[in-house]
Amino acid sequence: MIMNLHTHTHHSPDAKQTVAERVEAAKQLGLRFMAVTDHVEINRYYPASYYGAVESDEYFYDGGGVFARSAAEIAAEQAHAAPVRLLCGSEIGQIPQDVEKAALIYNDPRTDLVVGSVHELPGRPDFYFLDYDKEDIPQLVTAYFEEVLRLAQTDCWDILGHLTYGLRYLPDRRAYDLTPHSALIDEILRTVIAKNKAIELNGSGLRKPQPYIDPDLAIIRRYYDLGGRNLTISTDAHDTKYLGFGVDLLEDMARAVGFTELCWFEKHEIRRIAL
Ligand SMILES: [Zn+2]
Ligand SMILES: [Zn+2]
Repeated sequence: MIMNLHTHTHHSPDAKQTVAERVEAAKQLGLRFMAVTDHVEINRYYPASYYGAVESDEYFYDGGGVFARSAAEIAAEQAHAAPVRLLCGSEIGQIPQDVEKAALIYNDPRTDLVVGSVHELPGRPDFYFLDYDKEDIPQLVTAYFEEVLRLAQTDCWDILGHLTYGLRYLPDRRAYDLTPHSALIDEILRTVIAKNKAIELNGSGLRKPQPYIDPDLAIIRRYYDLGGRNLTISTDAHDTKYLGFGVDLLEDMARAVGFTELCWFEKHEIRRIAL
């Protein structure tokens, strides 16, 4: 197992275990690179009280505090992590909604990499909480990819997170035809390539009853065909038991597409490792 560059620890409201516990598991799995990327929803950078809101399971607040606590623990563990290369990361949601705050985290001297994700459209709940019976689905998916493009056009990220998150909870995700969105998806992929940033092959869906990967291989192939060669692999583990889940399979999939290297980031500098 080469890498898992998108993982969450107890600093994320929906995840478990300390960084030290994750490092121990990574050593046992033989992972060479692991990034801890706790949740920072940039549109809720401050604690709930700042917004006159209350904490809930639906909305994560205090992204700035999460990053401060997570980065401190990662930094403390880096000296004990060898032979695992422990990378200091953050998964920043909704970057286009507050690029200045995102830049604070991106430019923190401890940050190796940022996974940039869209979990919510402006003013809307997380895609997980939408009532899809009431949505115009093609319009929703278009709005999702437009928001991903806006994210890709910023500079506060290194890896585009789970590129098809906006489809993840559709009633029949696997039957949804992406063809009408292909021009927009191409524009996103070309932006990633032009910026020499990366996309991830996120395997969190492999543990679901109807398994999927995010994005699916057709999009990974399209990225490759357009000239993209910067790919990372992740399980998006929120629990240690999923740290290595499917990583071998994801690496095989990347090889099948044609990739001969994966990439990782050291203080945002792209590095490569043979696949
Ligand atoms: Zn995410
Ligand atoms: Zn995540």
